[in-house]
Amino acid sequence: MKPLGLYLHIPFCRSKCLYCDFCSLPARSEELIGAYVRRLCRDIAGQKEICREYTLQTVYFGGGTPTLLSAKQLEEIMGTIRKTFSVEAGCEVSAECNPATGSKELFSAMRSLGFNRLSIGLQSACPEELRALGRTHTFEGFLQTWNQARQAGFENLNADVMFGIPYQTQESFAQTLKKLIPLAPEHLSAYALTLEEGTPLFRRADKLPFPGEEETAEMYLHMVDFLASNGLEQYEISNFARRGYQSRHNRKYWDMEEYLGLGVAAHSDFGGVRFGNSRDLEAYLRGEDICIEKNTPGVTERENEYVMLQMRLSEGLKQQAFQERFGHDGKAFFAKLEPWISKGYVHRTAGGAAFTPKGFLISNTVLSEIVEFETEKR
Ligand code: SF4
Repeated sequence: MKPLGLYLHIPFCRSKCLYCDFCSLPARSEELIGAYVRRLCRDIAGQKEICREYTLQTVYFGGGTPTLLSAKQLEEIMGTIRKTFSVEAGCEVSAECNPATGSKELFSAMRSLGFNRLSIGLQSACPEELRALGRTHTFEGFLQTWNQARQAGFENLNADVMFGIPYQTQESFAQTLKKLIPLAPEHLSAYALTLEEGTPLFRRADKLPFPGEEETAEMYLHMVDFLASNGLEQYEISNFARRGYQSRHNRKYWDMEEYLGLGVAAHSDFGGVRFGNSRDLEAYLRGEDICIEKNTPGVTERENEYVMLQMRLSEGLKQQAFQERFGHDGKAFFAKLEPWISKGYVHRTAGGAAFTPKGFLISNTVLSEIVEFETEKR
């Protein structure tokens, strides 16, 4: 059996955050959510034949806010998954969650349905920063959700934080991180805020006090050290974990393994083909095929993609793994990384090369050079 990851997109939230460009909309009615769950279950069941040779290693409920679904709806989805797929023992089943959604009862029900990981969005512990982002919860609301999840038996919890947000200072970001440490998170994700065109935050950005580029870089570097000294090792550009708690689902993306995405705006890389759905919820609910992108990448494209994804990891690009996947050692890629080693942005590892924390800050620049080079060469 071949390993597979399954991503399910749940596009509903309590309200829309001001920076959000994800496919999510305020949950207008119970009927709408119910109709979506029924359509998603039909979609899952429809994969039975295609996925006969696969076994699920990970299931990821993303969004949106999957914890807006009821225990019954989650049970319907998990039941359909189990009827459709072979599910590996110990399969990682994760859900994204927002503070003040869910309850101890819901989390207990989720545990008994097989969920074993929750990712809870804090973003900041500072009220002013939360308001600027349009987040409707407080740090206390986050704490309550976190504690309820722990009481329900979740032993693998992630907290999401952001840096580079309005009103944030090095000190306030350090405080947010400090407040998380006593909670002993198994995992922490930290993303720099990106201003997405078309969002309310983008429109009012010039009126808000954002930290400068240098200050944001300092926040990042401080975070890497601070988290490491508290047992959360960086393993990816934006992700930190205690030993044994890396996100198995997200590793599938970075290791370029196969995954199937279902629901609006979900993407897949399956059977050598990449495909993606539109955000058209109405069309999806009408039962239409909403696949809008489909392509079969060639070898060069795959090699480039693999290098970009592996270099996101702290362990970096490994010559042997590259050789096993592509049948050559990829030395042109490694040669192009050499000049960055002497500048301290990349370091040699036992079997390859990886970014240093300082290198992660300019990884897009470095990688665009390397990938361009390879594309030109062939
Ligand atoms: S909770 Fe997440 S998905 Fe929902 S609106 Fe806010 S940022 Fe977007």
